[in-house]
Amino acid sequence: MSERLVIIGGVAAGTKAAATARRRNPAASILLLQDEADVSYSSCGLPYYLAAMGSIPRGKLIARMPDAFRSDGIDLRTRHRVEEIDVKRGVVTVRDLQAGRSYTAPYDKLLIATGARTAPVKVAMSATAPPLIHLRSIADADHISSVLAGVRKVVILGGGYIGLEMAETFTKLGLQVALVEMMPHVIPTFAESIALEVEATLRKHGVELFTGARVCELDGGQVVLENGIQIPADLVLSATGIRPSTNLADSAGIKLGQTKAIAVSPQMVTNVANVYAAGDCAESFHVVSNRPVWLPLGDVANRHGRVAGINMAGGLAKFPGVLGTAIFQVFDLAVARTGLGHAEASAAGFTPISEVVRAPSRARYIDRSRMLQIHLTADRDSGRLLGCEVIGEDAVDKTIDIIATAIWGKLATSDLPDLDLAYAPPFSPVFAPTQVAGEALNKLVEKTWHEQVGRRVAADVLGAI
Ligand code: NAD
Repeated sequence: MSERLVIIGGVAAGTKAAATARRRNPAASILLLQDEADVSYSSCGLPYYLAAMGSIPRGKLIARMPDAFRSDGIDLRTRHRVEEIDVKRGVVTVRDLQAGRSYTAPYDKLLIATGARTAPVKVAMSATAPPLIHLRSIADADHISSVLAGVRKVVILGGGYIGLEMAETFTKLGLQVALVEMMPHVIPTFAESIALEVEATLRKHGVELFTGARVCELDGGQVVLENGIQIPADLVLSATGIRPSTNLADSAGIKLGQTKAIAVSPQMVTNVANVYAAGDCAESFHVVSNRPVWLPLGDVANRHGRVAGINMAGGLAKFPGVLGTAIFQVFDLAVARTGLGHAEASAAGFTPISEVVRAPSRARYIDRSRMLQIHLTADRDSGRLLGCEVIGEDAVDKTIDIIATAIWGKLATSDLPDLDLAYAPPFSPVFAPTQVAGEALNKLVEKTWHEQVGRRVAADVLGAI
């Protein structure tokens, strides 16, 4: 009998694993169960899809249509929700949401790719509260499109990635936008001076900002903050974060890690033999901190899914870990990070040293050249690069990718100025921003080394007197 592979979840990791397993093992029976009506879509694309007001067809968000899976011999069942996993018997109990009946399906190997869910915002809602929406799935985007008619004022709760991307989308749609962030600044995991640039851009584009502010109530067409401020709202978007969807796994006795996502080996196997987990419901391993980390990002989910699919098909693949590289756009700005920030590096046991550098993205006399703000962090004792944050209107993606590659290759600050990078004025200054930042941080690292040597010599001299 052919091996029975069952995959729970059909967005990024689940569909990638199914397609990969099919290519590697044409004989396997593959059952892909997805509770939503849509499969294989780009949730990262949803803000851009909404902003495009129909000029991006819905189908363009879907990487692979259901028929493509089926013609590959993958038994894809949409609107089928797995309600229980019995790891002792090797079966899942499935609810056919359309037909309203339940059945069991046996597996030899199981992949849990159940993703993440929106974290519910804790707020009192009266009968006259403005509608509260969120954006996680393509169905959520459809819902938002359907309720926008007549909306003039929208309030966004949460100044993270989705909140900021949607602030731009709603502004482009001609709405008056206010954004509420409970921390002192938006994107609280970034350096304050980067958050300040983002806030200035939001204000420049007419977004009203309420930072360090908690919402307590939605009432009478208003968002009421704990400090008493009332913000008029026809619609409220909750973008206050997400949580890994782990209930199924947890109830089946599958171990969660310290991040509360499912703990997996580099082969994407859980603590239960033949049960794999991948995507937003699973942990990753951070290659700089050497610790498990939860990174619910689309590219990570696809890479998880690929490894799980190879292994479920009998191959031997390892997920090498992550640096936490991420980028987003808000109006004209791009903001990116990789590796560990200063505080994260301290928490991971390093002695970090950081430098902030401002450098042009291209030769200064080139029109498109813009100033970048770069925060570079290294380990003071070894000079090893640990992390970077970048903000600017140009070449942010290139800058962060060079640094991510350098960190992945375990380079030191002293290596950066010597990198042989592409130069011509329309593309870069003679010294690329990464080289300028590397040079500046390296000087700081070497200064601390000289000071240490100086202190040791002084101590020796004093000791000898
Ligand atoms: P997030 O974690 O990025 O941001 C949530 C924000 O909401 C935080 O700033 C937090 O301080 C704030 N917050 C929490 N509770 C609040 C409250 N009650 N009132 C006001 N503010 C509150 O989460 P998100 O923006 O919802 O995004 C969800 C996930 O999607 C993230 O994990 C992100 O990694 C991923 N994502 C990534 C990208 C990208 O990489 N470009 C884009 C979109 C989404």
